[in-house]
Amino acid sequence: MIVCNRCRGPAVYLSRGDGVHLCGAHLMEQVEAKTAGMLASYTLAGDERIAVALSGGKDSTVLLWLLNLLLGERAADRLVAITVDEGIRGYRDETLAAARNLTARLGIRHIIVSFHDLFGADLDSLLNGNQERACSVCGVYRRQALQQAAVEAGAGVLATGHCLDDEAQSVLMNYLRGDLTRIAGTLPEGTGYIPRIKPLGRVSEREVVVYGMVAGLLSPLPECPYTAHALRAEVRRALGVLEYRFPGTMLRIVEGEADLKRMVSGMIPPSTLSKCNRCGATCSGTLCQRCKIEGLLDRRGNVQ
Ligand code: SF4
Repeated sequence: MIVCNRCRGPAVYLSRGDGVHLCGAHLMEQVEAKTAGMLASYTLAGDERIAVALSGGKDSTVLLWLLNLLLGERAADRLVAITVDEGIRGYRDETLAAARNLTARLGIRHIIVSFHDLFGADLDSLLNGNQERACSVCGVYRRQALQQAAVEAGAGVLATGHCLDDEAQSVLMNYLRGDLTRIAGTLPEGTGYIPRIKPLGRVSEREVVVYGMVAGLLSPLPECPYTAHALRAEVRRALGVLEYRFPGTMLRIVEGEADLKRMVSGMIPPSTLSKCNRCGATCSGTLCQRCKIEGLLDRRGNVQ
């Protein structure tokens, strides 16, 4: 039997970087400490309301559970969970049910908003079979939906379930797209947007999954059918191989980006904000993200 390096109990997790085996209790302790550390790194007012983006999938489920645990008796007052129903057939119904069950179990207020109500159409109808653009369209609309619901719920920050793997993938995707403003961190949030925090940003996806299993939080759920078409899926595969062969790759990518941001801080002026030529919203170019996406839609409301 492989045993935990800390207590000699049965191990459930191997940290490949340092070869340390952990039992369920010590893995949970490690994940909770990392999350608490990340949370402490953000400057939050003592009573600031935290909106939690809860898709119902594993990352956001573990995130809400951990925030509830870390905030203790203040959790019900400070947390509000927001689920966006994009309107994805065969996927969203089950994750919505999981999100409802979790918030009911924790006694946390739960708000559900839908693309259909906010934007007049489900994602499936908007795409009309053009699956390659699904994540670009979905990402812009979902971000807007979450921000709007979070502000309306009186939240000061929006917590998302991005884990270390997601963060490393995003850094690499920014390089692959040549998106220097995001790499250098000079892209301002639009006005009216509240800051995002990522308390799981140093917790690996493997840790999230094992934590969720040990805590009895996870049940098999369908994956979004559009995942396979995204650039992220390719980057995820490649990074997974690199992380396996060279443990610590993802953490080095994320910490390297943070170092780069610190180095260039103040050297590059932030992108100036202007008005979107189409809708007048505040943005950093001539068109806001939503109008760029809508510019890809034909008259029938479908992506070209
Ligand atoms: Fe939206 Fe893409 Fe995520 Fe599916 S995989 S929920 S389409 S961002």
